[in-house]
This record gives sequence, structure tokens and C-alpha cells, in this order.
Amino acid sequence: MVYSEETVRVETDVEQVLTGLQVGLEGARGTCCWCGQELHDGHCVTVYAYRTAGHDEWNLPRIYCHDCNGGKIETPTLGTVEVVVTAFLGVMQVAASQTTRLVLTGVEVEEYSGPDDGSEG
Ligand SMILES: [Zn+2]
Repeated sequence: MVYSEETVRVETDVEQVLTGLQVGLEGARGTCCWCGQELHDGHCVTVYAYRTAGHDEWNLPRIYCHDCNGGKIETPTLGTVEVVVTAFLGVMQVAASQTTRLVLTGVEVEEYSGPDDGSEG
């Protein structure tokens, strides 16, 4: 397969796209999905994120605190772009709603699985 250059380009995009994405629900805090520890501004986290091929929207189903650090792509899924990234949490002010949200900053890709990886079985 000759798509190493493509992969590098995509990874750069991923870091840009994931930066600023909201973590958790409303408010400026999240929770480690493994140990349940609360995650705040300034915490280093590991995030598993995926995007279905053909869709622009990234999903962040799993956030781990630094201690758990459990994000790994164990079974790549065909047709899905999956990444494991490390990031720092930051707080973003949302002027329109006068609220704050927890977002990803300083995103670095640790693992990458393209849509051509994995099997259907
Ligand atoms: Zn944890």
C-alpha cells in the first residue's frame, strides 16, 4: 500500500480538527471513562476518537485520564478512521450562551487507523 504521504497529511488534519472539540457534556468538566476521575482544565488526557468514512464529524466516545492512559486501537474497523491522541484539556468560553466548555488542546496523534485498515469479519 502506498499511502504513507496521505497518512501524514491526514494526521496533521486530525490534530487540527480535534483541537477545540468539546469533551464530555455541559460544563467545564469531564470524566475518565475507566476510573471515573473528574477531568479538569489543564489535565493531560488520552482520547479515542473515530470518524466514519464520508462523514466530517468526529466522535469522542472514550476519554481517559493520564493514569489510565488506556486508549488503544485494538480492532481497526473497515470504513472508519480511528485515532488515539493525547491532549491537554482547556476551557473555552462560549460567549453566546455565557457558559464554558471543556475542549481538547495541544492534540498529538499517537495511533492512526485509516478507513482501509481492518476487516469486515
Ligand atoms: Zn482514569
